[in-house]
Amino acid sequence: MNTDMHTLLSALQAAVGPAHVLQGDGLTAYERDWRKRWHGRAYAVVRPGSTDEVAAVLRVCARHGVEVVPQGGNTGLVGSSVPDGSGTQVLLNLGRLNRVRAIDAANLTMTVEAGCILQAAQEAADAAGLLLPLSLAAEGSCTLGGNLSTNAGGTQVLRYGNARELCLGLEVVTPAGEVWDGLSGLRKDNTGYDLRHLYIGSEGTLGVITAAVMRLYPQPAASMTALAACDSVDQCVALLQLAQQRAAASLTGFEVISDCALSLVRRHFPQIPQPLPPAPWTVLLEVSDAESADHARTVFEGLLEAALESGVITDAAVASSVAQSRAMWHLRESISMAQAEEGLNIKHDIALPVSRIPAFVAQTDAALQQAFPGVRLVNFGHLGDGNLHYNVQGPLGVSAADFLARHEPAVNALVYDAVLAHGGSISAEHGIGLLKCETLEERKSPVALGLMRAIKQALDPDQRMNPGRMLARRPGDGFTAVAP
Ligand SMILES: Cc1cc2nc3c(=O)[nH]c(=O)nc-3n(C[C@H](O)[C@H](O)[C@H](O)COP(=O)(O)OP(=O)(O)OC[C@H]3O[C@@H](n4cnc5c(N)ncnc54)[C@H](O)[C@@H]3O)c2cc1C
Repeated sequence: MNTDMHTLLSALQAAVGPAHVLQGDGLTAYERDWRKRWHGRAYAVVRPGSTDEVAAVLRVCARHGVEVVPQGGNTGLVGSSVPDGSGTQVLLNLGRLNRVRAIDAANLTMTVEAGCILQAAQEAADAAGLLLPLSLAAEGSCTLGGNLSTNAGGTQVLRYGNARELCLGLEVVTPAGEVWDGLSGLRKDNTGYDLRHLYIGSEGTLGVITAAVMRLYPQPAASMTALAACDSVDQCVALLQLAQQRAAASLTGFEVISDCALSLVRRHFPQIPQPLPPAPWTVLLEVSDAESADHARTVFEGLLEAALESGVITDAAVASSVAQSRAMWHLRESISMAQAEEGLNIKHDIALPVSRIPAFVAQTDAALQQAFPGVRLVNFGHLGDGNLHYNVQGPLGVSAADFLARHEPAVNALVYDAVLAHGGSISAEHGIGLLKCETLEERKSPVALGLMRAIKQALDPDQRMNPGRMLARRPGDGFTAVAP
């Protein structure tokens, strides 16, 4: 930072209005991440209300050499949405930039501002009789801009793709404060490098997304949801294959949950119903049908009967109402909260070829148990996408903080060695942020890292956008680790 603080403050206030520049104490909601793992301190939290105001703030920051951390709903899980501990960064919160600008029913698109809460965007699409299929447990708080910046996945990737695949156009403000209007709703546009794909998944390190054009779909005529019990991960994969054969593109959800994950929900939220008796693995599957409710039911019941007859599943509970279906999804989505109640764990959001998942789980579970006796494997995830949340919780009775402090590097090394040996990725949908920055340096190909640094240098030459996240900044970043 090479600036006079008073001039900076006045310039920021002039850009967005004094009421939208927050300073001092009481800013924990902005400065601490969702997991309560990182707590920084901003020079100021700035809340612009329009694209022009975002551009004005970025011009001020460029003029004063100030670093900028973009923030949406602050639900990210890798420590990339909060400032460092220096007290010099501007935290740019997009929450006021939250309008649905347009819905084009004939083009099946909607244009939404970056700070729009995902659920509000879903509801706007729904009111127009259409479906915005991006869906995740944080949808009541996360924003479209955050979803795109992390290339969020969620529960319907199997059928509709992740945030990247749902986005047709972007509006972006560059670090110098220029506005790129790429808000096209085109499905075909081969006019050179597709800049949209650079910004999607860039975790605020290249510029600020201010609006996006998202794909919409016709709403399905009917959905059927069930929970099914399996004895092993192999059986879960066999059920996935059967479901893909029987339901094809109608299969919209396929989530696996280990009993360890469900046991945390039972402990912390005993009021949440669990329709099946405990089983080693539970699958939540959903079929959504464009034709009719009868067709959906026929496909679904045929699938479950075949799975029971062949011994792929041992039990099933079918939702017989929308309320029951919601309750099943609520159970699945409560796992993150239950983990948070249990205390910090060592998170691994990993991707693997589906065919390798049974071997990965068997070998890695055994290796972890041997190295860290009593360790609890809170394993769940989007099996249909080959994405596991393979989280490692310390043994019962051991302080979560102590376990994390003593064993995180060794646990990570063991898990990531196994992930790469099985042809997987160290980050499936949560991103890199601060959490996996060093791991990325160690594990990604030097050629790929070099290309990433070249892109960063070209688009953010002063290295002011979310520095130290995704691509390591050396030395130290000034973060204060917060004891859980
Ligand atoms: C309970 C829970 C469940 C979750 N489930 C899933 C899941 O199923 N799938 C999944 O993929 N993720 C999941 N997540 C994590 C996920 O990354 C976020 O929930 C969401 O995508 C982030 O949106 P946000 O608005 O909160 O972004 P933030 O947390 O505010 O920011 C995330 C990153 O994006 C950047 N950013 C935010 N807005 C902008 C912008 N407008 N322009 C440029 N950069 C920006 C930030 O700098 C940061 O790097 C979950 C999180 C929680 C808490």
